[in-house]
Amino acid sequence: MKYCEKCGNQLLDEAIMCPKCGCAVAGKQPTKAQNEYAKNQAKGAAMIIAAIAIVVFVIVAAVIQYNG
Ligand SMILES: [Zn+2]
Repeated sequence: MKYCEKCGNQLLDEAIMCPKCGCAVAGKQPTKAQNEYAKNQAKGAAMIIAAIAIVVFVIVAAVIQYNG
């Protein structure tokens, strides 16, 4: 169990804000490292999609040339 830093209200461990005063509960905010990680994950997914798109494009181009 933890307590609101602002008003001292008792909070659930998973609470992200105090229901009494609305103050954000420290420790549950995503850290800078976590934000960077999420950003990198998104970037990685975009790179994979771009790579797949390029591979598909190359295959399609090869098939068209082969047939033509
Ligand atoms: Zn509070």
